[in-house]
Amino acid sequence: MSFTLHGIPVSRGIAIGRAYLIAPAALDVDHYLIEPAQIDGEVERFRAAQHRVHEELNVLRADLAADAPSEMGAFIDVHTMILNDAMLVQETIDLIRTRRYNVEWALTEQLERLSRHFDDIEDEYLRERKADIEQVVERVLKALAGATGIVDNVHGACDEMIVVAHDIAPADMMQFKTQTFQGFVTDLGGRTSHTAIVARSLGIPAAVGVQHASALIRQDDLIIVDGDHGIVIVDPAPIVLEEYSYRQSEKELEQRKLQRLKFSPTQTLCGTRIELCANIELPDDARAAVESGATGVGLFRTEFLFMNHKDRMPEEEEQFSAYRRAVELMNGLPVTIRTIDVGADKPLDSMSSGDGYETAANPALGLRAIRWSLSEPQMFLTQLRAILRASAFGKVKILIPMLAHAQEIDQTLDLIREAKRQLDDAGMAYDPNVQVGAMIEIPAAAIALPLFLKRLDFLSIGTNDLIQYTLAIDRADNAVAHLYDPLHPAVLHLIAFTLREAKRAGVPVSVCGEMAGDPTLTRLLLGMGLTEFSMHPSQLLEVKQEVLRSHLKTLEKPVADVLASFEPEEVQAALKRVALV
Ligand code: PEP
Ligand code: MG
Repeated sequence: MSFTLHGIPVSRGIAIGRAYLIAPAALDVDHYLIEPAQIDGEVERFRAAQHRVHEELNVLRADLAADAPSEMGAFIDVHTMILNDAMLVQETIDLIRTRRYNVEWALTEQLERLSRHFDDIEDEYLRERKADIEQVVERVLKALAGATGIVDNVHGACDEMIVVAHDIAPADMMQFKTQTFQGFVTDLGGRTSHTAIVARSLGIPAAVGVQHASALIRQDDLIIVDGDHGIVIVDPAPIVLEEYSYRQSEKELEQRKLQRLKFSPTQTLCGTRIELCANIELPDDARAAVESGATGVGLFRTEFLFMNHKDRMPEEEEQFSAYRRAVELMNGLPVTIRTIDVGADKPLDSMSSGDGYETAANPALGLRAIRWSLSEPQMFLTQLRAILRASAFGKVKILIPMLAHAQEIDQTLDLIREAKRQLDDAGMAYDPNVQVGAMIEIPAAAIALPLFLKRLDFLSIGTNDLIQYTLAIDRADNAVAHLYDPLHPAVLHLIAFTLREAKRAGVPVSVCGEMAGDPTLTRLLLGMGLTEFSMHPSQLLEVKQEVLRSHLKTLEKPVADVLASFEPEEVQAALKRVALV
């Protein structure tokens, strides 16, 4: 039966393919399809693991101290019963045989199904038995051993697949970079949640905040993802499928046409040169940046280097070679390296182990970004040394996220001086004139701009967080996604004020939040005086097309009208004029 789901559009384009469901409980296991000839072997692997867990439980039972509470024995008995229950064993084997799932996938899929039944049970005691099943499955998974990331073993997944998940952590999303999927659909998330940003950087259509998608869509369902409108059509009628296939080919044609702009200089009709830089997450993304015609990296989100490091932070050498690689790939073009911005929706693995981070009342307002770096000075110094060393190989700028206070800026500058001193002592090369800039992403920073203009070499407006903190809405929470409004007068005023004051002080300023990559906002930002944009490489040519069609002088009046308006209808009317001049 065909049905349509609505969510938040986060990455444009149309994807048509089969649903590839990732159940939440399955996030930590390998997923791959096995060959028919491997089925018996896979069932055997399951049986062997089941046998091993049996033995473990027997040993546990035999070793129970004589004075152990009687519940302990009962508890082991329940687990033994679950381990032999046909609902778990036979159904898992059926999934291996009929779907050709590897055993870990089959087992977690079956756990997911059983969990859903348990959630519906009214009796609290029985409902709680779900935890026992989870523990047994965990034991079997451990016996099977070797579980790693979410998708780094999605062998056999083919490129007509569309990932459907309840939620995908940014760190897990990174693993999709090496896989070819057609699109993404998640139940949770907002337009600028980091998951959405990474989806966008992959340049494939995605919709987030599509509530209940992972419960309603079944494995292998044919689905269409309309990433322009956040629509997901499940099991489409042939005529709908035809219409979307047509739109898909039209879009591909448009993309091909845009390629012609790649090597033309970026300037407005009146001849003002505009810099279009790239946002990257990993060093090798610099390749796509160069190919898109970017004139530099405006934002290297280094925190992604720190994710998926379960036991340790990357050493100085490892970081240095990553930064150096990005710098060398950019071949003389500037690379703005942002110091680690962890916290909120980008926790490190180590943050979930006992430092209270997980229980922080509100992580988005907590120990995030520079606040975290300043609380870990040795780690911060390591990163600063690594970045400085990379500056010996090309033009590097250092960008600091989430600054708000004068003392944070001063402490950061002191640590940069200290990192330089340490490199001097070690006789290591770096650019002594490396520029240091601040992200303007907290309203307090925009309002107290003189603090920043006096102390720093450049600014970069992080509109994603600036919107989040100005409007007091969690950017990753789909429940308030409708209130996430880049065109709210308060947001526009903060941006316009920052651009104007920085220009007056002669301090270079760019925008590196998602607003910079939205072609429908290009003229507005140009009219506010922005001359440096940084966005994902996949967005660059569309923005360039807008720049090439704009004339700054004619934008002045309608943009001033936008800024003078407070009522939403007036803002919209003025924006229409911005689009038309
Ligand atoms: C921003 O906040 O706009 C930004 C660019 O940083 P991030 O999205 O990584 O928080
Ligand atoms: Mg930010």
